[in-house]
Amino acid sequence: GVCVCLDDVRVSFEDGQRQALRGVSLTIGPGERVALCGPSGAGKSTVLHLLAGFIHPDQGKVTVDGNEPDPVRQAAWVGQRPHVFAGSLADNIRMGEPQASDDAVRTAARDAGVLGFASQLPQGLDTPLGERGYGLSGGQAQRVALARAALKQAPLWLLDEPTAGLDPDTEEQVLKALERSATTGATLLIASHHPRVLEWAQRVITIQNGQVVQDTGAPHP
Ligand code: ADP
Ligand code: ADP
Repeated sequence: GVCVCLDDVRVSFEDGQRQALRGVSLTIGPGERVALCGPSGAGKSTVLHLLAGFIHPDQGKVTVDGNEPDPVRQAAWVGQRPHVFAGSLADNIRMGEPQASDDAVRTAARDAGVLGFASQLPQGLDTPLGERGYGLSGGQAQRVALARAALKQAPLWLLDEPTAGLDPDTEEQVLKALERSATTGATLLIASHHPRVLEWAQRVITIQNGQVVQDTGAPHP
């Protein structure tokens, strides 16, 4: 796991007319499992985008183990709606890691619960998607995204509302798959307002209107 740090971070959009983050400071230690909660528009995705290196702060500093976030290698990203393309299930899992062995793909598929539904398909993990009607449900697609993330063996996992739009049973399956898939010791941040996700996290940081308003894991002053 890595240590992630935001120090008095400000992010604005539209030439400073809108402030998505208004002075956010946070320190998250290696291996912590943190839920970011708060209403829609609070700034949760913006925090994750900063840590992924997709965007940069206007003011303040964002570091991952003391360095600037590296968008390519460091983080495993799981968004709301994973991109699934018309290759096989295995191709979809291997997407970002073309060198991954068949064994590694199989292990990732097993942990993320993809093998469970793949075994019902005529060609298992080699079944082509997007053809002959083999579509994936939202929960299945999300498990493919988790397997994909696991192959990356990233020390930092960033999940942006990964269970949004799923029914409670499917949400539970996805959380269990996440539990099995997450790289051992990885630092994990998950934006969500689902009660089950908040229960699942060790630490809950609440963001409202671009500021941290509560943090169950902050050190006592
Ligand atoms: P959350 O993830 O908590 O729903 P976001 O981080 O997505 O919140 O958004 C925080 C605020 O920043 C919102 O007011 C949103 O409209 C604004 N915002 C986010 N991304 C952009 C963007 N690319 N351009 C303009 N405004 C944005
Ligand atoms: P969601 O499904 O939660 O909307 P996405 O995975 O579609 O999340 O991505 C959310 C945002 O992050 C989008 O604005 C997208 O452009 C950006 N993003 C996602 N993956 C990458 C990436 N690998 N590199 C750069 N930006 C990315």
